[in-house]
Amino acid sequence: MVVRRDSAVGERAPDGSSKTGKSAKKAVGAEGETSPAKKAAEKATKKVTKRAEKPAEKPAGKPAGKKAAPAAKKTAAAKKAAPSKTAATRNTPAKKTAPAGRTTSAGKAAVARKVKPADVVLPAEAAVEKAAPVKKIAVRPPGGESPTALVRRARRINRELAEVYPYAHPELDFENPFQLLVATVLSAQTTDLRVNQTTPALFARYPTPEDLAAANPEEVEEILRPCGFFRAKTRSVIGLSKSLVENFGGEVPGRLEDLVTLPGVGRKTAFVVLGNAYGHPGITVDTHFQRLVRRWQWTDETDPGKIEAAVGALFPKSEWTDLSHHVIWHGRRICHARKPACGACPIAPLCPAYGEGETDPEKAKKLLKYEKGGFPGQRLNPPRAYLDAGGKPAPPLGAA
Ligand code: SF4
Repeated sequence: MVVRRDSAVGERAPDGSSKTGKSAKKAVGAEGETSPAKKAAEKATKKVTKRAEKPAEKPAGKPAGKKAAPAAKKTAAAKKAAPSKTAATRNTPAKKTAPAGRTTSAGKAAVARKVKPADVVLPAEAAVEKAAPVKKIAVRPPGGESPTALVRRARRINRELAEVYPYAHPELDFENPFQLLVATVLSAQTTDLRVNQTTPALFARYPTPEDLAAANPEEVEEILRPCGFFRAKTRSVIGLSKSLVENFGGEVPGRLEDLVTLPGVGRKTAFVVLGNAYGHPGITVDTHFQRLVRRWQWTDETDPGKIEAAVGALFPKSEWTDLSHHVIWHGRRICHARKPACGACPIAPLCPAYGEGETDPEKAKKLLKYEKGGFPGQRLNPPRAYLDAGGKPAPPLGAA
């Protein structure tokens, strides 16, 4: 099984502390957004991507996740984070380099490096940054489109994807918010399939936060071994279970500012739980989401928080969770990091990056994954709609 960066994950070290550099590689957390290597890759990508002027952040209307703001404002870190964010936005110059939708060899190298496990560092986000609300900003297309044209194109892409993936759903098996929270933390640096094959044994042995909080770490490590980073993941899931028991009465909280206080839980993990276990709209900016929205020129931002804000401005809040599923599903099945199947892509006419991947229809068809390529999905227990559409359940761990 090839281990890949495939899922929304926790962004903090298991003990809740920040980790960078070498030590962070051992931790379970985010997908390496702040690693030096990744920053270099992102920088290289920036240089080969056609850009217009970066959008200035402009608060407009009621921000999503408003409840998280007070907690964020209370910390000193918040005061530090805000000015630097503003400065970065103001000082980013407009760049014009390679033609839109084309990636140079340097750009391809950058993309390749982004998915190389060795480059993946799992840093912490500042707590305040994690709990900050989604900012509403003005639509500022990075290409030559008008804001109206970009909104129309973006929404059309989402509508088309909704037809391609009418059964889109979170690809982690779960039966309650606790299971989804743990599964999402475990999905760092591995596939949802591998997590789904591992969690049945975990939840059978430790069905509640109380059970997992009192678990013998060595026993949990043995169960989690197939997920990779099993020691760090064991610390995370036991740590978050203890926190749930001690601070939240053994229940998974339904608020962003509470969720991000849990060890190993960052914004992405929090939004996965909020969106799929509690029905609160949220945008999950994972590695697929970041790659695709830049290919589509919905934004040229590289910071997950800014991507969240830029994409959020293009869609009604009520569509955010389904939009996240559509984009992530398309990234997993057709618009891959290294070899996007452009020749088999249903939204090719709407995509400025058409041609970045294989355009020959027959060759492109062979690149399709999961149900689009005729293979099983990632969930052992997928929703009925998926099965009705011809999707197949994933096999359990150890099955041929
Ligand atoms: S597969 Fe190609 S055409 Fe389709 S969204 Fe990705 S880059 Fe665009």
